[in-house]
Amino acid sequence: MIFKKSAQIEYLMSGKKEKIFLKEAQRVAFDYKHRATIRFNISRYEAAFEKGKARYKDLELARDKAAFIKRKVLAGLPEFLEEFEKNAITNGSEVFWANDSDEAGNIILKIIKETDAQTVVKSKSMTTEEVELNKRLEKAGINSIETDLGEFIVQVAGEKPYHIVTPAMHKSKKDIAALFHKKFATPVDASPEEMTSFVRQKLRKTFRTAKVGITGANFLLAKEGAIALTENEGNGFMSYSFPKVHIVLAGIEKILPSLQDLDLMWPLLSAHGTGQKVTVYNSVVFGPGKEVEPDGPERMVIILLDNGRSHLYNLPEQSEALACIRCGACLNACPIYRNVGGYTYNSVYSGPIGSVITPHFKGLREYQHLSFASSLCGKCGEVCPVKIPLPALLLKNRRDVVVGKMRPKMERMVMKGMEHGLSSRWLMDSGGGGFKNFAAKLTGINTFVGPNREFPDFSRLSFSKQWKIKNK
Ligand code: SF4
Repeated sequence: MIFKKSAQIEYLMSGKKEKIFLKEAQRVAFDYKHRATIRFNISRYEAAFEKGKARYKDLELARDKAAFIKRKVLAGLPEFLEEFEKNAITNGSEVFWANDSDEAGNIILKIIKETDAQTVVKSKSMTTEEVELNKRLEKAGINSIETDLGEFIVQVAGEKPYHIVTPAMHKSKKDIAALFHKKFATPVDASPEEMTSFVRQKLRKTFRTAKVGITGANFLLAKEGAIALTENEGNGFMSYSFPKVHIVLAGIEKILPSLQDLDLMWPLLSAHGTGQKVTVYNSVVFGPGKEVEPDGPERMVIILLDNGRSHLYNLPEQSEALACIRCGACLNACPIYRNVGGYTYNSVYSGPIGSVITPHFKGLREYQHLSFASSLCGKCGEVCPVKIPLPALLLKNRRDVVVGKMRPKMERMVMKGMEHGLSSRWLMDSGGGGFKNFAAKLTGINTFVGPNREFPDFSRLSFSKQWKIKNK
């Protein structure tokens, strides 16, 4: 009994959200079907990523340049944003500033009501996930249709995106065919081509009738007051050009100084996101359609979302994380992400970048555990196209948590005890291996490795005793 109770020490050393994280991580890491699907999908990404990198004559130089541009933007972010706003308004767009999810949601709902729209088409956008837009629209009786294939799949499944670039990465071909068969009575063994064709036909009708299209923006171009969108399916293109009203929801960190920077940023984003030379559809949208233009929306509304970004911006050490261009490469490289999966993070942004920014977007006390969900192997920092030092930023978050005394009391006590014990040679040497093994069982320390691994036995002799014997 005492052993069982003591096994809960780790539990006492975790916050509420952290307990859920640990439980889920434990479950998913040993879900072999999940593991096989992720391994297969990431292996395909890795092969493409290698090809994408090999196309560069000097990838390091490109990364250095991109890192410099994004740091330059961060250094003058307020001025760049004002420049963007001024130029976007000159182009005929309306610009709104949203402090948080509620403000962004209310602005969008107001515009939809003004347009008298019942259905909106959406292209893939993590900022709309951040403000839980689909949930808000559904509550208001608006039909919101995801038009990116991956997003469409997770919407049909009633799930959230699993990954910031590939939302349905956790599903195999077979899983998707079974889902479509259940929801739309398509053949149970439908091929990817058949399923894609089915979705294309289905969405084409929606594009023709929806009055509002909602997109994100991969970049906001300050000098031109324009937005840059990059995608592979043409659905983003149709989401902004078919409907009467185009709403853009973009994070304030998405600024680039000008259109000229896209020749560096677009290929870097595609090489790191999917391994492509350049993504298939790349659009620069300067504003609503002009009188002389045969098509394009009558109204274009750009909402600049803060939602915690200013807070992060004001942290001199961690603000560098705002340079992220959301390529997803750090997620794919991360051994923790690959094992615990995207949903375990229980946040819109997962993997290394999510573990750095989420605690600042949503509250360090509540989301601190994400910054500890890393082995600090360094791979994320190595692959980042804009050279964000992710492992160092994770450590800075951890430091802030410890200095702010935000870890649970039990953990702080255990750490204090360990600090005392590990810094005393006498204590380290006292008690034989048998006693230490008994104490590990009694205190539950041996359960820290989880039920699927075995805690190794302490050696009979301490390290210093073994050292003395060997060096006699
Ligand atoms: S932190 Fe770097 S690697 Fe990760 S998503 Fe952002 S840009 Fe890509």
